[in-house]
Amino acid sequence: MAFTIAIDGPAAAGKGTISKAVAQHFGFAHLDTGLLYRAVGRRMLDGVPALDAARALMAQDLDAEDLRAPAVAQAASKVAVMPEVRAELVDFQRAFARRSGGAVLDGRDIGTVICPEAEAKLFVTASAEVRAQRRFAELAGAGVITSYDRVLADVRERDARDMGRAEAPLRPARDAVLIDTSEMDIDAAVARAIDAVNLARRST
Ligand code: C5P
Repeated sequence: MAFTIAIDGPAAAGKGTISKAVAQHFGFAHLDTGLLYRAVGRRMLDGVPALDAARALMAQDLDAEDLRAPAVAQAASKVAVMPEVRAELVDFQRAFARRSGGAVLDGRDIGTVICPEAEAKLFVTASAEVRAQRRFAELAGAGVITSYDRVLADVRERDARDMGRAEAPLRPARDAVLIDTSEMDIDAAVARAIDAVNLARRST
């Protein structure tokens, strides 16, 4: 049985944590599609043209250690503006989405472009300040030296690029369930997401 759960939203809204927990709850496979763009962005920082990097992308590239670095996140959002790069990554994501046993994909355009037919769609968001605070705590915990103001500026810059691009801009699908996690802890957000998916399962 194929069942696709599409989870979109801006950087650091809690999508990743929610997606992992939802996948585990339902026993589905999980793909963090941001890693595809990060892996391409990472190669671009090494001087490889983005389209060549997208064409040559391999599963093991998604395991590279430094993909979470802020510089890689910015590079990812720059390569993500390029329609040819996005087009290279579509087939892999769609095949993953329709694998038997169910799949959760999280990203920016899963419910709108990659899987408009997904059985369940969620849009997870939070204020820029809350997201920057969370990302700052995460980076500090990982030993990255930065400041809250710097992280907030980064979050805003990436939001503007992700929402303002012509190709597959970040926006909720018309039929997505919105989850604003600004004032929710992670357990409450996960519970809300699981409820929404259960509702979608009953109606399919
Ligand atoms: O989700 P994450 O922060 O890892 O994504 C890194 C960047 O990759 C995003 O800022 C966005 O520009 C891009 N991206 C995208 N479409 C996706 C997933 C990520 O454009 N489905």
